[in-house]
Amino acid sequence: MPATKTRDLEAILNRLRERKMRVTKNRERVIGALLTAEKPLNAEQIRERGDLDLVTVYRNVEAFEQAGVLQRIPLENGTQIFELTAPDEHYHHLVCRECHQAERLDVCVGEEMRKVAKANGYSHIAHVLEVYGLCRECVEDNA
Ligand SMILES: [Zn+2]
Ligand SMILES: [Zn+2]
Repeated sequence: MPATKTRDLEAILNRLRERKMRVTKNRERVIGALLTAEKPLNAEQIRERGDLDLVTVYRNVEAFEQAGVLQRIPLENGTQIFELTAPDEHYHHLVCRECHQAERLDVCVGEEMRKVAKANGYSHIAHVLEVYGLCRECVEDNA
């Protein structure tokens, strides 16, 4: 499943315009790299695909995250992969720990947790939930 659908692109670009963020060549390249990938990418893969340097990749990934159009997916080993999202959407994933393919899960346990956090006096609540395992292909490759 391609992570971000092309129809999201217009919404993403609109959000950047609303935030008065210029769509520079480098930003275009980061978006292009993520949009054409079959799965979320790590910084190194964005660098390679977009023909950018790593500092530029990290700076732009951060800017997109703040603009609400990019999600950072933590991996078990402490590194991260990135995917574009429709503005202010977030997703939970089934992540393969071997090939880092990530499928979006059609569930969100956020409402339940928001209530608990609110009852504890918290505001500005966010949550992260990712599920890790081995995908079918990787199990077969290892057999
Ligand atoms: Zn896999
Ligand atoms: Zn959620």
